[in-house]
Amino acid sequence: MSASAAAVLDLAWPPGGHDPVLSALAERHIGRDGALDFASAIRDPLLGRLAMVSSFGADSAVLLHQISRINPEMDILFIDTGKHFAETLDYVDTLSTEFGLANVRFIRPDAGLIALEDSRAELWQKNPDLCCMLRKTFPLQDALSGYQSWITGRKRFQGASRAALPFFERDGDHIKLNPLAKTSAEDILSYARRHDLPQHPLVERGFLSIGCAPCTRAVKPGEDPRAGRWSGLNKVECGIHLGPDANFARQSLAARGDGI
Ligand code: SF4
Repeated sequence: MSASAAAVLDLAWPPGGHDPVLSALAERHIGRDGALDFASAIRDPLLGRLAMVSSFGADSAVLLHQISRINPEMDILFIDTGKHFAETLDYVDTLSTEFGLANVRFIRPDAGLIALEDSRAELWQKNPDLCCMLRKTFPLQDALSGYQSWITGRKRFQGASRAALPFFERDGDHIKLNPLAKTSAEDILSYARRHDLPQHPLVERGFLSIGCAPCTRAVKPGEDPRAGRWSGLNKVECGIHLGPDANFARQSLAARGDGI
């Protein structure tokens, strides 16, 4: 997200302070060695109705595989922005079938809103923050209204903005579980090899972090894996982790007459 958009949204998330639910979850499921017992965590009633949100990107197979072994019936939400690589859509099918994931749900943007705001299909160039809000943040926010908690695939090694990522975090009314928070890139690779997991077809072409096609490029050797996302723009996150600020963004845009 650009500095200007952050200013508009007045980002002040997450709030500080003690959260007894997060403390209880940490006490129950994080061992003395600092490791998370993922299988026990996702069965905890404190999390309520739980879904996983997956991009079916370069690293997604590892967590999806783990979930398929614990609860293949879990709802898996895939945000179909309409801008994905064809290879990603194929990969959704491949992993769903291979892992026996029974409830992969495609979350799509409001077609009327896209027609209104992006009739020329160039919003990703002119205002990528708004494009991500319309195509990702708001559809996911609506989809998550039916859940109390969600699982993300974020990791600390993915960059400075994720360097202190906890296993459990509060996001407005939701709790987010980040089971791979402390997992290294080597661990991911090693797990994928050990279980012979299918690889996203674009990885062998140098795409190490995969989002929408217009906003993703292959990375060069030695580059940060996420360097190919919104390359050349002052933007590093899509905005689905805005927390309550997503509501504020919606209200701000509506107030500005942007058709939200
Ligand atoms: S990643 Fe690019 S194309 Fe996808 S929603 Fe964001 S700005 Fe739009």
